[in-house]
This record gives sequence, structure tokens and C-alpha cells, in this order.
Amino acid sequence: MKMIFSKKILSAVDKTKRIALAGLAKKNQKQQTYPIVKKDLLCIPRCPFCQSSRLKHLAEVSLISGLLFFRTSVCQNCVFVFRSISPSFAWFKKCWRMIDNGKLEVFNPEAEKYKKFRYQEYLAIVKKYLSRGSALEIGGGYGTGTKLFQQAGFDMEVIESEVSKARYIQEHLGIPVVDDDIFHFLNSTNKKYNLILFSNCLEHLDHPIAVMKKLKQILKPGGVVLVAVPILWDYVIWTDALYLTHKVNFSQEHLLALSVNSSFETLEMKNVPYVFDNSQEILLILRAAARPSPISLKLTSRQQKELVNEIAGLYHSKLPFSSKLVKNVIKYQVPHIDQFFQTVNLENKIIIPPHSQKGFIKIIPKYTKK
Ligand SMILES: [Zn+2]
Repeated sequence: MKMIFSKKILSAVDKTKRIALAGLAKKNQKQQTYPIVKKDLLCIPRCPFCQSSRLKHLAEVSLISGLLFFRTSVCQNCVFVFRSISPSFAWFKKCWRMIDNGKLEVFNPEAEKYKKFRYQEYLAIVKKYLSRGSALEIGGGYGTGTKLFQQAGFDMEVIESEVSKARYIQEHLGIPVVDDDIFHFLNSTNKKYNLILFSNCLEHLDHPIAVMKKLKQILKPGGVVLVAVPILWDYVIWTDALYLTHKVNFSQEHLLALSVNSSFETLEMKNVPYVFDNSQEILLILRAAARPSPISLKLTSRQQKELVNEIAGLYHSKLPFSSKLVKNVIKYQVPHIDQFFQTVNLENKIIIPPHSQKGFIKIIPKYTKK
């Protein structure tokens, strides 16, 4: 199988962040900060995709206290982009509990409308292969898509990590939530499903490669998996360096290779629009492969260099000052984490360029004069 790296035009602003920010503004949520210490961090010293230790660090985010809590790296062997240092899943769970108000409400109903459009398209695609049966949605959110598939005749179960969302699915929609962690679920269940919906979730997991490799275990014979992720070339600009909830940034080639290496074969590949802007996700329909056919992303050293440089370029893209001021790894410094997805709310912050190429880009609250 030959891999060709395709690049799409960058969309200006990352969609999920914008929608989440709009939701926060609407709620007029009080400023809260999320403390983090060293033991909250997940550190990955090798490429999770090819195990190479030849990493190039692209961006780092530290607290003023000195703790480096978020680092984006690219593998110089297979050009996989991932967070080599990031807050662990356990830390996110702590944060979700902090903001849980115990209410049964959808955070941002506007975002759910867009999600419904996407799931209507998913349903039309899935119906070509299956019309009923047991189904597991991994990362159900508020269950907008789960409900759509349930109404279409699928017997739904959900994995959802965020406590308020899981409660909403279980209590408001009456759909069973079987675990809060797919990694744990794969290691503890005997259940099998006809359909697995795995949309915009894989890139949020601490161990996405390990999860994909085990996914076949919970698929019934003849079953299909719908996996969809955003694609690096389509959405990464400088702000991605701050986007805490993405643990990896896939290219189409890495997603395909991971699927094949996890003993799946691709029945269909499609771009599906996110609807709220011009960007698209990549969607694969997978079934268990009759025989495994491992592939590796073989790149020439020239391709490796070119792609690593282009990816590094994405992390300089649209920086609010001349990117000549930053060379090599881009270092950000923030006073605290005040959003557990985008690190800080940039709307009430000032961005101070570094004094030297080795200095920090400081992101400070607007009212602090320095
Ligand atoms: Zn690699």
C-alpha cells in the first residue's frame, strides 16, 4: 500500500474551540483555574506510532512556576504528531468533576445541531452495511448522535468519560453508559457489538494506538466500525500548541495505516463536513480483515525532512506576531490553566512576543501591565 501525503488548505480558526468558547461566553461562566502538578502529567518519550525516539519538539507550554505541562512533538521517522507531555486522562476527570453542577443540561445546544447533521450523514453511510443490531458509541458526548442511531433501530450503549455528559445520556436519554474509559472497557469486557461509532474521540485518548489495536475484540463477526477524526493539515495553526484535549493529530495516512495495522480493512473512506465551518473530518468504515496486512509509513529521508518542516510551519501559522522571533521549539508561558481544553481563554489575554529566540511567548491576563 502506497502512502501519499495530502495536504488541505488550512481553515482559519479551529471549530471545536470556537464553539466551546461561544458556549462559555453564553453561560457567562465564572473564571476558574485548574491546578496541575507533575504527577498529573503523561510523558511519552517515543513515537507511539513507530516507536522511534527521533523526536522533534515543536511547542511547549509551561506555567510561570516552571512546570512544563504540554509539549507537542513530531516523529522524525514517521512524522506522527503527538503530545509527548500532556495532562493525563485522570487530570481531565478531576477537571470534569470540578465543573459538574449536577444538572441535566446540554452545555451548548447550538453545537448539538451541527453534530446531528454529521450523524445523519453517518447513518446514511452505515445503512449501506448494517440496518440494525447492537452498537457502541465511544465518546457519546450528550448523546445527540447516539439517539439518532437508536431511533434508526440500533440497540445503543455508550462510553462517555465526562461525568455530566454520561449522566445526561443515562438519565435524560435512558441509554446505558457502560464505562467511562474505552481503554479500561477493552481490557475488562466480553461484550461484542455489530457497530462501533468512534467519532472525534480517538485523538483525545491517552493511548489511541493501543485502543485501535484492541478494538477488533469487541466487534461481532460481520460488524463494522465508523471511525472519524479531524485531519492535521486542515485545522492546525499556532493555537493547537495550547489545545490540551487533543493527544495526537492524525494525518489521513496515519489513520489508514493504524487501521490496517490493527487488522481492519477499509470499506469506505470519506470526508464529512463539520458544517459550522469549511473544515472536514476524515471518516473510515472498517471491518475486520480476513488476514492481517501490516504496512509501515516508509518515507525517504528527504520526505521526512520536508514533512517535519511543513508540520513545524503549521505551529507558526497565524501567530499574532512575526514568526521570525521564534525558532525551533516555540515556548509559551501561561499564569495558570483557566480552560481545560484551550489552556487559557485568549480573549481576555495579551500575547507578549519573546525577547529572544530562546525566550517564552508570554500569555498574561489583560489587566496585568508588564
Ligand atoms: Zn514515528
